[in-house]
Amino acid sequence: MPMSCKSCGSLNQSKFTAEMAIHFPGMKNIDEPVVWVFSELTVCLDCGTAEFTVPKAEVHKLAKGDAAAAG
Ligand SMILES: [Zn+2]
Repeated sequence: MPMSCKSCGSLNQSKFTAEMAIHFPGMKNIDEPVVWVFSELTVCLDCGTAEFTVPKAEVHKLAKGDAAAAG
């Protein structure tokens, strides 16, 4: 049973693998290292909505970096 797109309800979705470099936004975070995420990406071929899950280790890095940026 294929999943339908959360945005438009289309069943026309494809899975891809992706490498993403996640940046912390803003000039104050320019020295923060990027967080690399290797994940499976589901793309809706009708509206372009993409969905992926960040692995736990990278979620931790994002949470830590965000706290460091705020403090
Ligand atoms: Zn869609």
